[in-house]
Amino acid sequence: MNISLMQIGKQPFRWIRRKYESLGTHHCYVCKKTLRRFRPYQDGQKSFSPFILELQCIGSDVENFSCPFCGCHDRERHLFMYFDRLELWHRIEKSKVLHFAPEAHLSRRISELNPVSYVKADLFPSSSEIQRIDITQIPFDDNTFDMVICNHVLEHVPDDTRALMEISRILRPGGLAILQTPYSNLLQNSFFDPAVCTDELRTRFYGQKDHVRIYGRDLFSKIEQAGFALKITAHHDLLSDIDDSAYGVNPDENLILVMKHLQTIYPQSNECSNIRSA
Ligand SMILES: [Zn+2]
Repeated sequence: MNISLMQIGKQPFRWIRRKYESLGTHHCYVCKKTLRRFRPYQDGQKSFSPFILELQCIGSDVENFSCPFCGCHDRERHLFMYFDRLELWHRIEKSKVLHFAPEAHLSRRISELNPVSYVKADLFPSSSEIQRIDITQIPFDDNTFDMVICNHVLEHVPDDTRALMEISRILRPGGLAILQTPYSNLLQNSFFDPAVCTDELRTRFYGQKDHVRIYGRDLFSKIEQAGFALKITAHHDLLSDIDDSAYGVNPDENLILVMKHLQTIYPQSNECSNIRSA
């Protein structure tokens, strides 16, 4: 009885809160709602250590992170914008798609397009629709997929060289991959230190407790070494008419779109280790 009364009592407050959230000048590109503000990731910029702030990492908009209505994150909203403008949805309709750490709204939209095949993958699946797949040992034949979506995943993967080689292997020649990940333009080489081995240290030096490095500009040569041509699309070129602040996306985060070369020679395992140590 008490619980029912409490539930009834909460309804007006929920309604008022929703109304309050909807009064504003911000807009969610995914659910199309108007809102007062996006919710920050943790404490926003205040969550970052001086070390991370100094590096000016390009990644999520942590101040304008999640939508209070649909829960989408800034990087998911951003992909919707890029997909719209580049008409990537049409490509998906005729494609075999492999999607790592699938975002809810993006994966629903892809499913609605009825692609030739659509595999949702995660090392730690959150539902039965998602297959348990290790990105460094992808259980599919060479040249299987037309598109791979890997949105803010590589920064969590210890052997990212192997992951990139695997993505390249299972993509068909000419296939596309989206490889968003945070990086710092101020670093020539990615920062990794084996001594950074606790949640606290990873948060301080990599920005999140489950990140395993800070990428530098060598991210792009790593991608190229895995057999890809860079097809990076700048936010400022494609989405300059979007009010990034109102729509809650980071205008410095370009689309890291890459294409597998039409002719690729797969390195043998010893060559992989050479790339890894380069
Ligand atoms: Zn929304």
